[in-house]
Amino acid sequence: MADVPHLLILGGTGEAKSLAEAASARFGERLQLTSSLAGRTRRPHRLPGEVRVGGFGGSDGLAAYLRAANVTFLIDATHPFAAAISANAGAACGSTAVPRLQLLRPMWRRAPGDIWFEVDDVTAAAGRLQVLLAFRTWPTVLMTQGTGGLAAFRTLADIRFLVRVIDPPDRPLPLEHYEVIPGRGPFTLDRERALLAERAVDAIVCKASGGAATEAKILAAREQGIPVVMLQRPPPEPGEAVQDIDAALDWIAAKLLGIKLATKKIS
Ligand code: NAP
Repeated sequence: MADVPHLLILGGTGEAKSLAEAASARFGERLQLTSSLAGRTRRPHRLPGEVRVGGFGGSDGLAAYLRAANVTFLIDATHPFAAAISANAGAACGSTAVPRLQLLRPMWRRAPGDIWFEVDDVTAAAGRLQVLLAFRTWPTVLMTQGTGGLAAFRTLADIRFLVRVIDPPDRPLPLEHYEVIPGRGPFTLDRERALLAERAVDAIVCKASGGAATEAKILAAREQGIPVVMLQRPPPEPGEAVQDIDAALDWIAAKLLGIKLATKKIS
C-alpha cells in the first residue's frame, strides 16, 4: 500500500467508528485506513482497516508515528473532552506538516423546559448539586460523566448516585452511596425516560458532550423537569473543523483529489 494515501483516525467515539466505516465504503482501496484507540474500553467496536491501540507517548511520540507509518492526513474524531490527545495531534501535525481535521460534535441546544446548570469542573458540579438537593431525603443523581473526578462528590453522603459506565470499574468508587449501571451509547429516548422515571432521578450530572448518541437523557430530563448539572467542554484546538461525517468525507475526497476545500477554521 506504499503509494496509497494513509488516513489516521484518532478515535474512541461512535463518530470515529461511523467515519471509519463510511470512509472505507466510499474510498475502498484508494485509501489506507488506520484507527487509533487509547485502549480504555475492554470490548472496543469492530472497525474496518487497521486498528492500533494505546498512547503514542505525547506529541513527539505521535509525530514519530506519523513519520514512521507514512501518514498522509489525520482526522481527530476523539471525544470533545479528550483534550490532551487533541492538543498532541495539533502539535504533531504542525511539526510534521500532516494536514489535520477535527470532527467536532455539535453542542446540544438549550430549549424551553431545560434546567441546566453549566459548570467549569467537578468541584463546581459537586457544589451545585449540594445546593440543588439540600434538605431533600435521599435524592438520587444519575452520573454519566465517567468515573474520573468522582472523588469531588464524596462528601455528598446523603445522595444516592447511579453511576453509568461502559465497563464495570475494577475497584470501589470514591462515593459513599452508589450503584453502578452498565451502559454504552447510543441510548434511546424511551430507555432514558424509563430510567429517569423508574429510578426517580432528581438530578443528572453529565459532560456537555453534544452529539446525538447521548442526547436522549437531556431530552428526557427536559420532559420530566429534571435539573442537569453540565460540565463545560474544554476549548477546541485551533485548525480546520467540521461537525458531521459527510463533511469529513468531503475533506478526505478533496485531499485525495489534491483540491483545497474551504472548511471552517477554529482560531
Ligand atoms: P485524553 O485525556 O485526551 O488523552 C490522554 C492520553 O491518552 C493521551 O495523551 C494519549 O496518550 C492517549 N490517547 C487518548 N486518545 C487516544 C487515541 N484515540 N489513540 C491513542 N492514544 C490516545 O483522552 P481521554 O479523555 O482519556 O479519552 C481517551 C479516549 O477515550 C479518547 O480516544 C476519547 O475519544 C475516548 N473517549 C473519551 C471520553 C471523555 O469523556 N474524555 C468519552 C468517550 C470516549 P499519549 O500521550 O501517550 O499519546
